[in-house]
Amino acid sequence: MQEEIKRLEKEAQEAIGSAKDTGALEAIRVKYFGKKGVLTALLRSMGALPTGERPKVGQMVNETSQRLEGLLENRLAIFQKAEKQQRLAEEAIDITIPAREMRLGRLHPLTLVYQTTRDIFLGMGFEVREGPEVEWEKYNFEMLNIPENHPSRDMQDTFYITDKILLRTHTSPVQVRTMLAQKPPIRMICPGRVYRVDEVDATHSPMFHQIEGLVVDKGITMGDLKGVLDVFAKALFGPATRTRFRASYFPFTEPSAEMDVSCSVCGGEGCRVCKGTGFIEIMGAGMVHTSVLQGCGIDPRVYSGFAFGMGLDRMANMKYGIADIRLLYENDIRFLEQF
Ligand SMILES: [Zn+2]
Repeated sequence: MQEEIKRLEKEAQEAIGSAKDTGALEAIRVKYFGKKGVLTALLRSMGALPTGERPKVGQMVNETSQRLEGLLENRLAIFQKAEKQQRLAEEAIDITIPAREMRLGRLHPLTLVYQTTRDIFLGMGFEVREGPEVEWEKYNFEMLNIPENHPSRDMQDTFYITDKILLRTHTSPVQVRTMLAQKPPIRMICPGRVYRVDEVDATHSPMFHQIEGLVVDKGITMGDLKGVLDVFAKALFGPATRTRFRASYFPFTEPSAEMDVSCSVCGGEGCRVCKGTGFIEIMGAGMVHTSVLQGCGIDPRVYSGFAFGMGLDRMANMKYGIADIRLLYENDIRFLEQF
């Protein structure tokens, strides 16, 4: 009996030692320790032994079982670790794959041209003022020398909220608000959306953007107007840019002028863009009308000023060579990505 136990232990040790995986070890465990296992059977058969031998043989079987079980567990732990590592290797996620690229937005061409324009005027000591888009008719027209029945009201037909309240047709009411609220010296620009009853086409939109400017102080002359706007045009369109002023008419300035800049496409030689003239009109300007100053509580015998205004959409189109104003509002990413 004892020889048999030793032989079984040796046999089991060899089997455990040569097992290749956890499945093989489990088969060995069942073979020796299972309900019908060899060692289990051995314990059952002890009843056949002489009473005196039973404790000794029982102890031997138990000790053998403990050694074999320890051996099994060690091997099992080794296999389980190896199998886990293999599984981890197989299931590993390749974290070196490049992440999906985040699409960064860009500034809209209108924003770009506004920021450039704003910075040029900030550099000359101007401040930025803003005002409401829903405006009093009085500030939009009346105080700018445009009484009811004035023909330029037709040209600036807009959307009325009531008889007295409308969507502003220009940013000029911000000039009125500034003069009412602040005593000279005044140096300000006012950017913003404006509205007119225009059919949408390549050069018109019922909503567009303006930037206007106003300077009021003692001794301001037409020479200051020309100097400031010439500096602006060279800063925006390049140092070779030439400017020219033509007499014009606006109700709120006297004298009034249109400012042209030399065509940046042909350099002034004449081309399709400038219709052969070498110049492109970019804004209206003039000396603030004395009655406008007076209406805002500024004494025109002491102070004088100049004002100017331009369409930002038109400036953006000129600066970036955009042919159709509608492109600015369609939010087509293929278009907007180019700036
Ligand atoms: Zn040209």
